[in-house]
Amino acid sequence: MNFGQNDSPNEKKPGGDRPKTNFWTPLIIALALVLLFGWIYNMVSNSQYTETSYTDFRTAMEQNQLAEVQYRGNRVYYLTREEAAKPAAQQRACYTGMPGGDWLTVSNELVANGVKVEEQIQEDNSMILMVLYYGITFAILFMFMRTLTKRMSGDGMMGGFGKSKAKVYMEKQTGVTFKDVAGQDEAKESLKEIIDFLHNPQRYTEIGAKLPKGALLVGSPGTGKTLLAKAVAGEADVPFFSISGSDFVEMFVGMGASRVRDLFQQAAKVAPCIIFIDEIDAVGRSRDNRYGSNSEQEQTLNQLLSEIDGFEPSKGIVCLAATNRPEILDKALLRPGRFDRRIIVDRPNYQGRLDTLKVHTRKIKLSEDVDLKKIAQATAGAVGADLANLVNEAALRAVRMGRKAVNQEDLLVSFETVIAGTEKKNTVLTEMEKRLVAYHEVGHALVSALEKHAQPVSKITIVPHTSGALGYTMYLPEEEKFLSTRQELEVELKSLVGGRAAEQLVFGVQTTGASNDLQRATSLARNMVSQYGMSSDLGLMTTATTQNSYLDGTPYMDCSQDTAARVDMEVKKLLDTAFDSALAILKENRALLDEVSEYLLLKETITGEELMAYVNAAREPKEAPVEETAEEAVTEENKEE
Ligand code: ADP
Ligand code: ZN
Repeated sequence: MNFGQNDSPNEKKPGGDRPKTNFWTPLIIALALVLLFGWIYNMVSNSQYTETSYTDFRTAMEQNQLAEVQYRGNRVYYLTREEAAKPAAQQRACYTGMPGGDWLTVSNELVANGVKVEEQIQEDNSMILMVLYYGITFAILFMFMRTLTKRMSGDGMMGGFGKSKAKVYMEKQTGVTFKDVAGQDEAKESLKEIIDFLHNPQRYTEIGAKLPKGALLVGSPGTGKTLLAKAVAGEADVPFFSISGSDFVEMFVGMGASRVRDLFQQAAKVAPCIIFIDEIDAVGRSRDNRYGSNSEQEQTLNQLLSEIDGFEPSKGIVCLAATNRPEILDKALLRPGRFDRRIIVDRPNYQGRLDTLKVHTRKIKLSEDVDLKKIAQATAGAVGADLANLVNEAALRAVRMGRKAVNQEDLLVSFETVIAGTEKKNTVLTEMEKRLVAYHEVGHALVSALEKHAQPVSKITIVPHTSGALGYTMYLPEEEKFLSTRQELEVELKSLVGGRAAEQLVFGVQTTGASNDLQRATSLARNMVSQYGMSSDLGLMTTATTQNSYLDGTPYMDCSQDTAARVDMEVKKLLDTAFDSALAILKENRALLDEVSEYLLLKETITGEELMAYVNAAREPKEAPVEETAEEAVTEENKEE
């Protein structure tokens, strides 16, 4: 289906009258200015002379009162002897008109009388010069005015006169289709109806169905909301208008509202089309002032609401908006008939990440050793934008290395660049610091490797990174997890505090290096107590609510202060237990801890497999008998005592 037929040829830019404002206004202004200059110049230059009658001139000539005479452009300019005697500044010349024929006789007479005579016969020349002069002035002025008006309307200042075409950005064809959007199947499914509607509005109007006016794309930054909106336009083959919510909010009061009006006017001209408003929370913020709205923003929002209500649905304008904070949006925006559809754009799961990697490596030369599955596995939690960035970094690295294709190492290294900042090889750690970092990281890794439920470690490194981490342990989830059991969370707690436990066990010191671990452990423990009902004291009662689950998901406490204090006690108890347990595990496996740490100090980076090799080697002689006979297990226990 092609909607191109209703498009008139001059709609490359939003608003067909935009070039008009940018061409005619400066033209007229420049012309007026040139004429004004010319007139003023004439006034000024003529005011130096007094106009006299021809008789006056004849009289002066016959009485021999003339000092100097100049003839130019059919005029005689003359200075009387009386004036010539005055100081130069006060001299005042006169002029009178005279045809060229007369001047011939007059000049002869004057020369005979010994008067100084000058003649400028450059009539034609001076005309050309004058035209040139005015022409150039005009051209310069015109250019100047034009850039000025362009810039002003770009900033929305000229727009103060009611036209604000700024920052609306229209693509006639986005060239993006659903094929370019990996994963997000549910979102695509809900958008399909909108596409169908844009293809075939009549089918819906005939049956009397209320047509969808808008949908709200909700999801974390970088999950592909803009991309999806573009793909909808691409699939429906309609123009795509996009504007960011923050563009509406302007310095000048009333600008936002007029911008909204403009946007919808422009869209109506090319309907059917898609209007995409990014970051709609910037305008759509609730008006109840809890989140600090203001009157300008309220005005803009009101205008937006009335435009959405106002447009004729059968015209085929669909308004898509994106936000990552749906909870702060004004209820009025979410009312039926407005952005009543909510389409969740999730962080991609393993398959989604793999597909995203595939989409982005389509145009990239990959060498044979590339295993995108491994990368997809390692990037749990990454959004589409991260993955796109990762692939690009890898390609850049391949070029830097002078290779013709991207290999697995490029991808792995750029993954670390994106996740942990680039490797900072020149940070010098003292020998002692290095030992501390190594034991700390091995502490994390060992605790989680030794606990059955923990995720295996994919890599441990003590090479400092620009993100500030002196070393880190990278966990590799075996499979996507949506539910965690209490045991799993407890193991996670243990391995989080494992770093600190190792420091304390081996060196008897506490360092600042563990602060991030401790924050994460504390917030995990707090969630366990306050949201997951996993404490013995408070039981199933939840004491915190997550507010904006699409951003950082910071929960806020909603309980009495007494209860909050009890929550704190429970959190502390969980952490203490985890720490004691981690300490015990490491004490028990002290030899292994030393062995792996020394190896890490030597190599700086070790893989998960290398670690597991150590762990398995250490475990075998101990555990094998336990499984075989109960008898031997007893002797084993006795030995330990
Ligand atoms: P948002 O609007 O949600 O912040 P964008 O749509 O601007 O995110 O996404 C930024 C970039 O990330 C896109 O241009 C695209 O390259 C990449 N991207 C995000 N999600 C996907 C996806 N599902 N499939 C392919 N690429 C994606
Ligand atoms: Zn740590």
